[in-house]
Amino acid sequence: MAATGNATPELKSRHYDAIVVGGGHNGLVAAAYLAKSGAKTVVLEGRHKTGGAATTEAPWPAAPEFKVTRLSYVMSLLPPTIIKDLELARHGYKIYPMGPYYQAFPEGGAIKLYADDAKRNYESVSQWSKKDADAMPQWDAWLAGLADVLGPLLLTAPPSIGSHKPKDLASTLKLAWRHRGLDVRTVADVTRLMTMSIADLLDDWFESPQVKGALAVNGVIGTWAGPYEPGTAYVMAHHSIGDVGDGHLGNWGFQEGGMGAVSSAIESAARSHGAEVRLNARVARVIVEDGRAAGVLLDNGDEIRANVVVSTLHPRTAFLDQVGRQNLPEDFVTDIEHWKTRSGVVKINLALAELPDFTADPGTELQEHHTGSVEMAPTMEYIERAFQDAREGKPALRPFSDGVIPTAFDKTLSPEGTHIMSLFTQWVPADWSEHPHTAELEAYADRMVDCYNELAPNFKASILHRDIVGPYQMEQEYGLIGGNIFHGELSLEQLFHMRPAPGFADYRTPVPGLYYGSSATHAGGGVCGIPGWQAAKAAMADRRKLVTGSQMRKLTRRS
Ligand SMILES: Cc1cc2nc3c(=O)[nH]c(=O)nc-3n(C[C@H](O)[C@H](O)[C@H](O)COP(=O)(O)OP(=O)(O)OC[C@H]3O[C@@H](n4cnc5c(N)ncnc54)[C@H](O)[C@@H]3O)c2cc1C
Repeated sequence: MAATGNATPELKSRHYDAIVVGGGHNGLVAAAYLAKSGAKTVVLEGRHKTGGAATTEAPWPAAPEFKVTRLSYVMSLLPPTIIKDLELARHGYKIYPMGPYYQAFPEGGAIKLYADDAKRNYESVSQWSKKDADAMPQWDAWLAGLADVLGPLLLTAPPSIGSHKPKDLASTLKLAWRHRGLDVRTVADVTRLMTMSIADLLDDWFESPQVKGALAVNGVIGTWAGPYEPGTAYVMAHHSIGDVGDGHLGNWGFQEGGMGAVSSAIESAARSHGAEVRLNARVARVIVEDGRAAGVLLDNGDEIRANVVVSTLHPRTAFLDQVGRQNLPEDFVTDIEHWKTRSGVVKINLALAELPDFTADPGTELQEHHTGSVEMAPTMEYIERAFQDAREGKPALRPFSDGVIPTAFDKTLSPEGTHIMSLFTQWVPADWSEHPHTAELEAYADRMVDCYNELAPNFKASILHRDIVGPYQMEQEYGLIGGNIFHGELSLEQLFHMRPAPGFADYRTPVPGLYYGSSATHAGGGVCGIPGWQAAKAAMADRRKLVTGSQMRKLTRRS
């Protein structure tokens, strides 16, 4: 079973082959691969527990029997390769596939969308528009076709586009060659996806506000942009990719035990390969000697040495605070200074005495519409208004929410008969990461609850406990600078070869020996483990080259 990692083991050594800074899920993945390759590896985590943004916690001291998946809440993007390589199922990784997307409407009625049931989708959508119901299978096929192109790119280390070094030219050409089969239409469709707003894209396909509202949700999740902003079409695609080229990803699903159990499963795998995990071990600085990473200095003054350091912290912390501007090229420093890292997300976790009793689908007994996402995104205009409020400097009057009730399946999170509901809500002003705004967040959460109460009149009275995590707390407690949920926005100028900076998207950094594997790298954004896996792969490949190089030199000297 998965280790919880709540003790603070003493370090067994001060010298390691590899140090991983940050015990979020990416750090744990990196550590598992490094340890599996035979490297003596330690993870240094600043908090009292691992997991970072993939964490299960009991936020109500008076009611420890309720556990919430405090920040991230659903799985989808973890590639089958990582699950298999690390034998995560053996370590406690267990997913319950989610039910349908559900939106009830204030004017009456509801829409349900099914990820894999075209017939029921047709019935549901045709209540709102026959034309949209007819268009839905083509939309799904169109999206699946594009996801087939974009998915495998998630597992590709981006080439350094524009570099004239033979190695970089070779990887750019390799990528182009892999995509030689693309035709003019597909390239045009990918271009549309990368440049259009989700609102414009959906206007091309659908007519009913209900369907457009439903399909817009994935375009704005975690994004400092309303649905009319260019680039939001790509965000939708990022959340809709089903196949990364090494197997089909599950539909969105709930981990048993909450997202912290995903982290615990990865931690358990890392430990099984010999990795050490040290908690309450806050890294203050990366030690750079003779231009190379040589270890880290902890807040408490402890120095730990290794020739390989993998950082998984936010890029501003990792590079500007811990490596230091003096050790980095000027243009790289500028790129990291310009890194956009806003979200305006507020996570609201609720303990409920009973399930929401929707006027559109009455009853508090468990029904299908409780098992998927329970949304507050009735129309595109509603979502846009919530964003515009925040852009104008006010918290949304009527916030947008992507809600889920994991206890529809998972009985480990709350006592029998009760439920946990997780509301991923947007937006508050981006600069709320600078101050706690406690009273205003309470008022914002009240309004969010009122919105659901209009659709399910028992909702407000069913709330036993409430936990609100705003951008300030995300930054202070979890290291998510600016409150951005992905360590940096998924905006076009911060994707692929630009993530986190041009020339350094291959999980290497300007400092030899220092690798970078946080969600601020390509594929990052989500609990997918790909950045940690790629950073470990880059470190292992360089180590092999170094070993082979020194063997060659020895051989040459001997001969
Ligand atoms: C509210 C919210 C909802 C989300 N919902 C989803 C979702 O449903 N599905 C999904 O796939 N993704 C979701 N995400 C995104 C996802 O959770 C993140 O992209 C991912 O967890 C980041 O993982 P990471 O390992 O890169 O970084 P992190 O999880 O941020 O891990 C970094 C770790 O480093 C530690 N640390 C920080 N500073 C130091 C230091 N100085 N020394 C040592 N350690 C340090 C931190 O404590 C943390 O444990 C959500 C995120 C948030 C915030």
